Amino acid sequence: MTNERVYLDWNATTPLRAEARAAMAAALELAGNPSSIHAEGRAARGLVEQARAAVADAVGAAARDVVFTSGGTEAITLALTPGLRIGPQPVERLVVSAIEHAAVLSGGRFAPAQIEVVEVTREGVLDLDHLRRLLADGPPAMVSLMLANNETGALQPIEQASEIVHAAGGVLHVDAVQALGKVPFRIKGLGSDLMSLSAHKLGGPKGVGALVLGADIQGLDPLLRGGGQELGRRAGTENVAGIVGFGAAVAATMPTLVDDMARVEKLRNRLEANLRQTEDSVIVCESVARLPNTTLFAVPGLRAETAVIGFDLAGVAVSSGSACSSGKVQPSHVLQAMGFGPELAKSAIRISLGWSSSESDIEACLKAWKKLAGNLTKRDHETVLERF
Ligand code: PLP
Repeated sequence: MTNERVYLDWNATTPLRAEARAAMAAALELAGNPSSIHAEGRAARGLVEQARAAVADAVGAAARDVVFTSGGTEAITLALTPGLRIGPQPVERLVVSAIEHAAVLSGGRFAPAQIEVVEVTREGVLDLDHLRRLLADGPPAMVSLMLANNETGALQPIEQASEIVHAAGGVLHVDAVQALGKVPFRIKGLGSDLMSLSAHKLGGPKGVGALVLGADIQGLDPLLRGGGQELGRRAGTENVAGIVGFGAAVAATMPTLVDDMARVEKLRNRLEANLRQTEDSVIVCESVARLPNTTLFAVPGLRAETAVIGFDLAGVAVSSGSACSSGKVQPSHVLQAMGFGPELAKSAIRISLGWSSSESDIEACLKAWKKLAGNLTKRDHETVLERF
């Protein structure tokens, strides 16, 4: 066993980029409140606005349309507001896909009775016909869809969904938390009216994100009221260092995004070519467009939680597709929505790479898997821990 850790759980969170760390350290030295008009305040304001411009630029939005929040979850909750509107009619219900993140599935400020769920195909992609049918009946809806799924990496047909949503008089919110920094996109090109982002998925700090507006949105009810910060859309003195770290991470990511991710994709493909050699293994969503950094693979009979512990003991950080709540392993809601049975839905391991992932990371991961693979079926998974 080696002491060197291999981090392959970039969809959970990423290491802080050096550029973000340096920018945050400098921002922490500033005394001023960005709302103050003296030189110290103006210096802090300058950095916040520079970060806002960087985030706006990354998704093709106007800087004034970026509202900084405490992360993706807050941005989503701010977006999912009954009564919000673009045209004359306010939205009165929420339509989400079955594979959304828990922050979206919980509905933000919509009541549970106002929420409807769109199915996905067996390939883990939004069922556009079902979306069309759901929107055909009933009052105008807010529709919340993810651009990339956090478990499978499957990219969703947002442009087509946007046409359907707008033809039905609805408003589209896109959860782009997993996509930012992994695939290029523009908010208007996607036809997104609101978009949620999070800094810690692309090398920024945890606990900061943004809601970005792609249309003239009326009725965005602030979650936090008080001072007039963020143009009255989110009260409270800004998290200057966090926002600055977000801006720096985005600015460092975007110029080399395509090349970095092409390199990452090659590593991911090499990993998958090897994983496929495990008998009965399934690479989830391999037949559809996916994030270049994500592998979700399932092996019948495997207990994903045990495998994750085995990898961890071998020095490799990966994650299971399933969620663990109250000590009980729950099958992944994403895999279940795709039609996987509960056993297979409990057997998926997610390996996600990032800009500094290397050949040697993949080798270490495959070495650990080779050792683990034979020992992780239901029958003898208990022995795995003894072996490490
Ligand atoms: N949406 C997706 C798709 C995510 O993967 C996550 C984080 O895992 C979130 C939203 C929540 O973002 P945050 O952790 O910044 O609250």
